[in-house]
Amino acid sequence: MADNGIARDENVAVIGLGRFGGQVADSLLQLGHEVLGVDENDRLVQQWSDKLTHVVQADATDEDALLQVGIKEFARAVVGIGSDIEASVLTVLTLSELGVRDIWAKAVSAKHGRILRSVGAHHVIYPEATMGERVAHLIASRMLDFMEFDDGFAIAKTRAPRHSAGRTLADLALRTKHGITVVGIKTHGADFEYASPDTVVPEHAELVVAGRTEQIQRFAATT
Ligand code: ADP
Repeated sequence: MADNGIARDENVAVIGLGRFGGQVADSLLQLGHEVLGVDENDRLVQQWSDKLTHVVQADATDEDALLQVGIKEFARAVVGIGSDIEASVLTVLTLSELGVRDIWAKAVSAKHGRILRSVGAHHVIYPEATMGERVAHLIASRMLDFMEFDDGFAIAKTRAPRHSAGRTLADLALRTKHGITVVGIKTHGADFEYASPDTVVPEHAELVVAGRTEQIQRFAATT
């Protein structure tokens, strides 16, 4: 264990406490993880010092500085540096050379993402691109929420189809007609319930559906 005394296995180093890294750190804290924050900006370090388990002001491209904060004992690190591409790449390279087993890094473009992979990032996240695509789907279709996976498969929240209230899912045969599977169903103020063939669709219901993106889009248009 390193100087700062954090037990490492479940804990995560977040490097770059900007908008993205800060949100990751905050959410990890809420999920019960201990977080080591690293940023070169003194003001941000001060701002986070009450919240995070440990916050250090350091240049994350500097191997010695990372060694000093005990980075080697972290199995997981998130690099939230985006606008300074050189710093982002050098930080990922340094983490990789120091043997951090699970490196997550934010990229601002596809090329940046490819470089991050080539220097050792195990997961590359494109927050703007991913969110932009998602918002476009929500604007262009009648979906209420939408998440697409790599292979054109998606999960979405939609309204129930028109005139479906009072009918069972078996009767509606959405898989046969639209190729989508209803996973869950919800009415206002109630929790989601898992769907089964004899689930009766209530008035004003929302559905969680899974299927190919185009099929979900066509289905959402019927709602
Ligand atoms: P966001 O858009 O998520 O705010 P930015 O790239 O603007 O992302 O911010 C990244 C953060 O990373 C900033 O707080 C900045 O101080 C920090 N940062 C940039 N370069 C380094 C570095 N070499 N070492 C440590 N922190 C860095």
